[in-house]
Amino acid sequence: MAEGHAVARWGDALRQLVGEPVVAIQVPPRWRERADNVRDARLTRVHTHGKHLVLYFSSDWVIHTHAMQYGSWQIGEPGLELRKDARFARLRLTTPRYEAVFFHGPVMEVLSVEEFATHERFHSLGPDLLHDDFSVSGVHQTLQQQGAREIGDAMLDQRIVSGIGNIYKSEGLFLAAIDPRRPSSSVTAKELEVLFDELVPLMQAGRFKHGMTVTLPDELQLEPWMRNWVYRRRGQPCFVCATPVEMIRQGEFERTTYFCAHCASTGV
Ligand SMILES: [Zn+2]
Repeated sequence: MAEGHAVARWGDALRQLVGEPVVAIQVPPRWRERADNVRDARLTRVHTHGKHLVLYFSSDWVIHTHAMQYGSWQIGEPGLELRKDARFARLRLTTPRYEAVFFHGPVMEVLSVEEFATHERFHSLGPDLLHDDFSVSGVHQTLQQQGAREIGDAMLDQRIVSGIGNIYKSEGLFLAAIDPRRPSSSVTAKELEVLFDELVPLMQAGRFKHGMTVTLPDELQLEPWMRNWVYRRRGQPCFVCATPVEMIRQGEFERTTYFCAHCASTGV
């Protein structure tokens, strides 16, 4: 699942293409005419924010992608062997030395710089927790305004904080001993400090690693399937206190949240 750490990792890989001209571009039919504005232009910048990834070109056009839950990138040499069926490719960019393919992502748009400047969804994003200038106090203020909205729901709202998906939501709240059912406005600045102190290094580590999202320390991974503290462990004993892990559904989209009610009530 694409959370902010995976998008940051794809961004790192795509930066290898900066400075190179686009010699070929393949996009779905509705974007073909616009793709002419990118062909022959040079890639000048790669920017990630939360789960959004933006490629800037010397022709003053951009390609904006959002992987949602299923999208992924593959970056390699021209003519690379595709990891997935070619019909799932939403974008295929070729430069003299590289080829970059975006699979399955529901959002792939080719926009002029002016159009992108007024992109409502992108410009309403909250701070990205993996950016160097990320500040917890801004997030705390926004959460105060969320009132009774459950913290487990608010954590996934990319307008509040950008980059956290379903796995890191449950794991972060567990590590900070915050009950996901609590009203957002009840979470203190101190608790949020703990939460992001736990989450940011975990996600930074995930940025440099492919594969499953692992949050459990090595010494607790007694079996290969033991990867997370609470995520997808409903009914199994908590690694800290042995209380069975619970699962609830939260928010408009009824996203699953896993937690240990006992640990959340006793604090860190
Ligand atoms: Zn527990």
